[in-house]
Amino acid sequence: MAPAQNPITSKHVAVIGAGAAGIITSRELRREGHSVVVYEREKQVGGLWVYTPKSDSDPLSLDPTRSKVHSSIYESLRTNVPRESMGVRDFPFLPRFDDESRDPRRYPNHREVLAYIQDFAREFKIEEMIRFETEVVRVEPVDGKWRVQSKKSGGFLKDEIYDAVVVCNGHYTEPNITHIPGKKSWPGKQIHSHNYRVPDPFENEVVVVIGNFASGADISRDIAKVAKEVHIASRAKEPHTYEKISVPQNNLWMHSEIDTAHDDGSIVFKNGKVVFADSIVYCTGYKYNFPFLETNGYLRIDEKRVEPLYKHVFPPALAPGLSFVGVPAMGIVFVMFEIQSKWVSAVLSGRVTLPSPEKMIEDINAWYASLDALGIPKRHTHTIGRIQSEYLNWVAEECGCELVERWRGQEVDGGYLRLVAHPETYRDEWDDDELIEEAYKDFSKKKLISFDPTYYIENGK
Ligand code: FAD
Repeated sequence: MAPAQNPITSKHVAVIGAGAAGIITSRELRREGHSVVVYEREKQVGGLWVYTPKSDSDPLSLDPTRSKVHSSIYESLRTNVPRESMGVRDFPFLPRFDDESRDPRRYPNHREVLAYIQDFAREFKIEEMIRFETEVVRVEPVDGKWRVQSKKSGGFLKDEIYDAVVVCNGHYTEPNITHIPGKKSWPGKQIHSHNYRVPDPFENEVVVVIGNFASGADISRDIAKVAKEVHIASRAKEPHTYEKISVPQNNLWMHSEIDTAHDDGSIVFKNGKVVFADSIVYCTGYKYNFPFLETNGYLRIDEKRVEPLYKHVFPPALAPGLSFVGVPAMGIVFVMFEIQSKWVSAVLSGRVTLPSPEKMIEDINAWYASLDALGIPKRHTHTIGRIQSEYLNWVAEECGCELVERWRGQEVDGGYLRLVAHPETYRDEWDDDELIEEAYKDFSKKKLISFDPTYYIENGK
């Protein structure tokens, strides 16, 4: 859509959440001239990256009355994306070789990511826009505006009216638990990865880990350090799959999916193998959840599809007053926050216009039809890693910002292939030095680094 002729207007905008999406979005909104209030339930910025040894009181997070913890980060977690690609484009996630408290590795630990997010918030004075320990409990449209009801911890409910609301509440807190026939009468311990922190509780146990993507691959190896045996169940594997995986403890196996669980403690896999297990760890992903949103049934979540959302951001009939930053699952996450929020900011100011609601719905239906034609299940509507650069560049062109650098997409795609092939080593052994070089030369050209690129390239090896 071409830039609009309308004069640029400043809007009063509420942002829900001060994780990476919320702080990046609030910066873009303010840059565009909007006045911004960010609501954050916790005491600090960082969202998912604020590690805590605490977890939900229900290890499967099924009990609606449980005490809840936002973060899903485990102690040993390192990023699954290289730092050059992960950072915001004009504020790269640089290694700090000069500060011993920082982790300069290319795939650093979770504390380093939180430190980067805090650096970003400090650099761009984001905290002055944030109301900490303030939970948004209800958001609804009223007479062309948006009512936001919030509650400060220990305080009263407060209603405020905004021109627009941007939802940045994250989607890695509400576990998705896969069904296993016989699970109810299976006598062992069951926990979702959202509540996994350290391997110690699994010492000398036989453990079944369900799921083999980023978290499943990490957690199974973490637990194998102390457990008697670990068995991974993977839906992506052929039914006959039964492989021993090489780890120092010699106690890790890969299976196909689980067939059934039984009250004698046995787990039967689709490959016919039977394992008597003490624990099951579900690394089976998360659900979208917007418990505060009241849209009279307009917006629905169906099998992990948030619908209807134009280009994963705007619900047509409620746009542009309501928008979402961060819904798609992909590798270049922080840059997605940046580009989506630039688009939202530009649409709200009138610099860019959206198509009519009818045209947006047409586009959404065409997207669903294309997924159907490719046999892609509904639950993968927002899993767009395979087309991430194409998607981001479409949004970037829409709002007239810089396209995604080629090296960024290539680094992330290559990293995922290494993750799948070598989950133990992909963070420390790589074959894309030329992309790292391209990244730092690019930062240098844009005057985003103060040292010569070779300083980062040589020290980072
Ligand atoms: P969050 O970080 O979850 O922030 C949401 C914020 O909203 C929170 O602070 C929360 O308190 C607040 N909030 C929620 N509801 C309310 C409410 N009602 N009122 C007020 N405040 C509210 N991405 C990468 O780029 N690299 C990685 O290596 C990587 N590793 C990951 C590993 C794991 C295990 C997981 C689960 C995800 C990983 N991700 C990674 C993806 C992750 O989505 C992003 O890194 C990103 O940090 C998410 O940011 P967010 O702001 O969308 O959500």
